[in-house]
Amino acid sequence: MISIPPFAQLKEQIVSCTGEDVQRSLRTDHLDTADLAALLSPAADTYLDGMAARSAAITARRFGRTTQIYAPLYLSSFCTNRCSYCGFSADNKIERRLLSLDEAEAEAMILHQRGFNHILLVSGEAPAKLGVEYLEKLAIRLRDRFAAISIEVQPLSTEEYERLFNAGITAVAIYQETYNRHTYNEVHLSGQKCDYDFRLDTPSRAAAGGMREVGIGALLGLADWRAEGFALGLHLAWLRKHFWKTALTVSFPRLRPAAGEFQPIIHVTERDLSHLIFALRIFDPDVGIILSTREEARYRNGMIGLGPTRYSAGSCTAPGGYSNPDQSGEQFSIGDHRNINEVCAAIRQKGYDPVRKDWDAGFQLQ
Ligand code: SF4
Repeated sequence: MISIPPFAQLKEQIVSCTGEDVQRSLRTDHLDTADLAALLSPAADTYLDGMAARSAAITARRFGRTTQIYAPLYLSSFCTNRCSYCGFSADNKIERRLLSLDEAEAEAMILHQRGFNHILLVSGEAPAKLGVEYLEKLAIRLRDRFAAISIEVQPLSTEEYERLFNAGITAVAIYQETYNRHTYNEVHLSGQKCDYDFRLDTPSRAAAGGMREVGIGALLGLADWRAEGFALGLHLAWLRKHFWKTALTVSFPRLRPAAGEFQPIIHVTERDLSHLIFALRIFDPDVGIILSTREEARYRNGMIGLGPTRYSAGSCTAPGGYSNPDQSGEQFSIGDHRNINEVCAAIRQKGYDPVRKDWDAGFQLQ
C-alpha cells in the first residue's frame, strides 16, 4: 500500500526548489517526483506562462482539441459520516432524500435527453440505504443507454468493484479530500471515513476490481495546496506503476459554500488552481484532468485547452434535482450554471470539440 510522507516533509522539499530546478524540470521530457516538487514550488510562480504553454501543448498532443462532457446524477443525500466541510454531513439539518430505482432512472433519462452520454452516479455514504445491490440494479437499467457510467460513492471492496464493473459501471472516483493526515483527522469527525488508510487504498481496490478508469483528487481549501498537489502526484505515480492498465484522472475541487457554513482553512485562488493543473499535466501527460461546475463559467472558459480534459455541465447536486429544479438539499452550490448546450458552444468557440461519447461497451468484449 502507498504511504504518503508527512506534509511538513513534502513542504520542505517543495520550498527548497530553486528557479534553476524549475527551468531544468521544464526542459525535461520524462519528469520524476522531484520535478513535480519543483513545478509546484514558489520558485515556479514566475514561470507560470511557460508552464501554461507547455501544459496546453502536451494536452493537445495527448488528447487532441477535445473536451469530454459529463453530468453528475445525485442518488442520495443520506450520509453516516460527519465531514465538517460537506452539506451532506450527518449532523446537518437538511431534507434528506434517496431516489428509488425508478426515480433514478427517470433522472438519468432527463440527462440522456439533454444529450449526455457519460453520467457520474453520486451519493452520500450510507451503505445500509444505498449499497452495491442498488448500484448494480441501476447500472443494469442504464448501461445500454449511456456510453460510460461512473460512480462516486462510499469506498467498496475489490469484489464489490468487480461486481459493479460486470454490471456496467466502468469508472470510480474516490477523493482523499486531503492527504494531510493531521487535517484529515480534524475535518472527519466520525464515521467510516475517519479511516485515512482505508480511503487511501480505495483507488487500488477499484483498479484491482477491473475498473477501466479511476479518479483521485484533493479538496482544495483544507491544507497547503502545493503539498496537496505533490501528495496527489505521488499517489498518481504509485497507481501508474502498480495498475498500468487503468486510465487515471485527477480533480482538485475547490471548497464551495454548503450547509454547515464551513469556511476554507486555506484560501486557494484561481491562479493557484491553474498552477496545480499545469504542474500535474506536465508531470503526467496521460492523466485526465476534471474541471467541474464548482468553478465559474469565466474561469472554465479560460482554461479550455490549457490542461483540463473533462468538464461537467448543467449540474445539480441535490437528489431529484433534474426533474424538480426547485429541489432543496444540495451538497454544495455550483459556480457554473450553464446548460450542456451553452458549455458545448463555449468549447466550440475556442476551437475545441465537446466530446459526449469517448467509450463503447463493445470495446470491453474484445
Ligand atoms: S463528503 Fe461524502 S462522506 Fe463526507 S459528509 Fe459529504 S457525502 Fe458524506
